[in-house]
Amino acid sequence: MAMDSIVLFGPPGAGKGTQAQRITESTGLPQVSTGDMLRAAVGSGTAVGLEAKRYMDAGKLVPDNVIIQLIIERLKKDDAKGGVMFDGFPRTIPQAEALSQIAYVSHVISINVPDAKIVERICGRFTCKTCGFVYHEVFNPPLVIGSCDHCNETDFKKRADDNEDTVISRLEAYHNQTSPLAEWYKSKGILCEIDGDRNIEEITQDILEALN
Ligand code: ADP
Ligand code: ADP
Ligand code: ZN
Repeated sequence: MAMDSIVLFGPPGAGKGTQAQRITESTGLPQVSTGDMLRAAVGSGTAVGLEAKRYMDAGKLVPDNVIIQLIIERLKKDDAKGGVMFDGFPRTIPQAEALSQIAYVSHVISINVPDAKIVERICGRFTCKTCGFVYHEVFNPPLVIGSCDHCNETDFKKRADDNEDTVISRLEAYHNQTSPLAEWYKSKGILCEIDGDRNIEEITQDILEALN
């Protein structure tokens, strides 16, 4: 029996990945991040990675056919049988239409953050090199500075595209191509809007309530 999937929706830097990491245990749904999948493909130099890299470096959306194919393959894996938590997908109407053919989405959680807050969030972002946990230099540092809260790793990394130049293009892509999806999902009655301009724990609580 296929179970419900949920979508975490919002601008770059809204906190989708941060919240996904915090609710994956309570929901039992694995996080499916197209951004993480694309970075893995770039890292291993696959054909998909080579094609995707130039879009990612420019802060543009990777073509729909590439993304949809990645998702179709991902949903074939055993751990996706009970539904998944999509993070950063869908980002266009054609992606959402494709998704509606292959999975049942019960909730779209829209994490709303004003543009003015996005640049500082993205420019301060870094992740654990081993477990991928997301931190922020100012807003969400590890409890013990220099050591991951979850796996004690002392090595961290920053994304090449997390700089002020690409953030501007990524926000533009968000407003032009992605934000119309909010209305689309609202008209289907499954959009839950969450104020993402608060502290991380409050947002997590609201999301868990919306899912109940
Ligand atoms: P952020 O949430 O900070 O924008 P992501 O890790 O979700 O970052 O995405 C990084 C980049 O990967 C995007 O700028 C875009 O080029 C590409 N990407 C990720 N998901 C998608 C998608 N669903 N459709 C098109 N491009 C995508
Ligand atoms: P997204 O997946 O939507 O691109 P992330 O979860 O990677 O966003 O968060 C972007 C950055 O903002 C990270 O450095 C993260 O630690 C930080 N962040 C996430 N949520 C909040 C919040 N509620 N308040 C302040 N900073 C946050
Ligand atoms: Zn770690």
